[in-house]
Amino acid sequence: MMPVETYTGKDGTLLIYLDDAEFNNLILEYLRDVPKDQWPSYLQDSAQNMFRMTGIGYYPNGMATDGKVYIRWKWRGDAELLAHEYGHILGHDHTDSLSIMNAVTQLRFSDPHNLEQKAKDNFPEPWRKHIQPHEAYRRMVIGGLTLSAVWAWMI
Ligand SMILES: [Zn+2]
Repeated sequence: MMPVETYTGKDGTLLIYLDDAEFNNLILEYLRDVPKDQWPSYLQDSAQNMFRMTGIGYYPNGMATDGKVYIRWKWRGDAELLAHEYGHILGHDHTDSLSIMNAVTQLRFSDPHNLEQKAKDNFPEPWRKHIQPHEAYRRMVIGGLTLSAVWAWMI
């Protein structure tokens, strides 16, 4: 495996960024050892067909397994993704509630366990390098949209 970058968190958890080919390989290797009827529901054919047609659903962009978090390089700016995977390391399972530990990316609305802060504290360097600039940009875009909406309403 040839990571793009690797970091060691304060608690010893490894954070490994992989390009698409390496990351997809990792998922396939993991799934090879698991009978298909035991795959998580979001990876079953019907869910994946739905995902391909509508974009609603999930294909893994991160993975957590014994002391290691793997993140798809393209998704390195996603605070919720890192918080979610680190949540697994901290012992949280998937939830149906609309929070960070939902398996479906689009349903992660709240953070009851404060996992974003915990991930930020544990991985300060990659957070500063990959997530901070991205979040600042996202807030600027959202702020800009709000501003233009107000502007449109005023005139
Ligand atoms: Zn998960």
